[in-house]
Amino acid sequence: MKIENYIRDIQDFPKEGILFKDITPLLNDPIARKECLKILVESLEGQKIDKVVGAESRGFFFGILLAEELNAGFVPVRKPKKLPFETISASYELEYGLDRLEMHTDAIKKGDRVLIHDDVLATGGTAKAVCELVEKLGGEIIQCNFLMELSFLNGKEKIRNYPIFSAITY
Ligand code: AMP
Repeated sequence: MKIENYIRDIQDFPKEGILFKDITPLLNDPIARKECLKILVESLEGQKIDKVVGAESRGFFFGILLAEELNAGFVPVRKPKKLPFETISASYELEYGLDRLEMHTDAIKKGDRVLIHDDVLATGGTAKAVCELVEKLGGEIIQCNFLMELSFLNGKEKIRNYPIFSAITY
């Protein structure tokens, strides 16, 4: 079972020049999905996790599976103005300009042991902003994990202060 076989490359999506890594075949296959979850959980080597933080929106899929498996809470990080309660925000760079991510102020308690999850680590801007949000609320980042890492974009550099794990590296 190779989980790589369940990632589909889509050329020029959502715009020209981007090779989009489509995880829907992985989501659609229960055996591949379980194998992928197992790889991610094993990378934690039994460390206790209080909260799994998933980045909108593809970080929600495995984020919630990880939270279930680890018996942890799940925290969604979302694009601006999507969360209904009081929020904190962190900005990150896009190709042109800035965008923001938000999290509920009561989502993490000081000292919570946090796992951050997203589907793809590309430039690392998203993951860095999520780390900032977690630390603003006093969470301790145990690991940032990803289904895959596009190593040629050097995203690891932006989150180099934290343990990083990717199930697949391109
Ligand atoms: P970045 O902030 O550059 O590390 O980008 C990470 C975010 O963008 C993740 O939430 C991914 O879902 C998405 N993303 C970036 N590049 C790709 C790609 N080639 N294929 C699929 N999603 C991507």
